[in-house]
Amino acid sequence: MTNTPPMTLETMPSLPDALVEGAALVVAHPDDEVLWFGSIAARAQSLIVCFEDSGNAAHTARGRRRVSEAFPRPARWLRLNEPRTWRRTSWNDPTYTPHGLQATDPQTDQRVAETFAQLVEILERELAGATAVFTHNPWGEYGHADHALVHAAVRTVATARELPLLCPLIASLTSVRALRRQQAAWGSPMRADVDIEFCERVRSLYVTHGVWTWDEQWNFWTRDVFAPVQVGSGTVPASAIRWVRGFLDREYPEHVEDRAVLDSSQA
Ligand SMILES: [Zn+2]
Repeated sequence: MTNTPPMTLETMPSLPDALVEGAALVVAHPDDEVLWFGSIAARAQSLIVCFEDSGNAAHTARGRRRVSEAFPRPARWLRLNEPRTWRRTSWNDPTYTPHGLQATDPQTDQRVAETFAQLVEILERELAGATAVFTHNPWGEYGHADHALVHAAVRTVATARELPLLCPLIASLTSVRALRRQQAAWGSPMRADVDIEFCERVRSLYVTHGVWTWDEQWNFWTRDVFAPVQVGSGTVPASAIRWVRGFLDREYPEHVEDRAVLDSSQA
């Protein structure tokens, strides 16, 4: 066996412009478009944002509505209610369902199934003109089951239409087990420069309206990494994954014991 050097950001091919220009970008929450898709959020042919009302803070829907009215590019805001999966996923022993990731209680699973059905129906129309689609990965990047649900819905429609489907290679201590249990064959990762100016402009809009859900000090990556999802199963190239670390050290201290798992994945 020959030893091929691990792929790095420097040796990775660039995402072709033509792929982005005809593509739809589908994100779960308002702000996901710049957090995980900053290289394509401004230039994808269409941007579809699924959720508006978080169901737990009255100001969220109002603030998100204002952001949508001032957003610096055309977008389709579906304004669905969030299925409220946050902290209702067994990240230490995750199970995939046809709708994303199984929740810890049947009520949440019910909401997820209903939202999935709603979303598939809408996306069958909304993705009609797209030549490719970008969305969340199966384990929801840092570990958000709303993202996993959106992935499952988009994948259902993209598979039926034979549309190329690409996801960001992002994971965290919380989601690393779900990453390992995912069922997809991954094509070669590709990099793309993040449009920092656009991301900062959008972040300040969310901050102004009190609905930036992430760390205000978050430094946008300078480059994204995407890989095409294919039918089959296979591992995700660990060297291509962007790890969200600090977030979990703060939010999920009980998972820090898994650092060895994370470190071995990065090796
Ligand atoms: Zn999100």
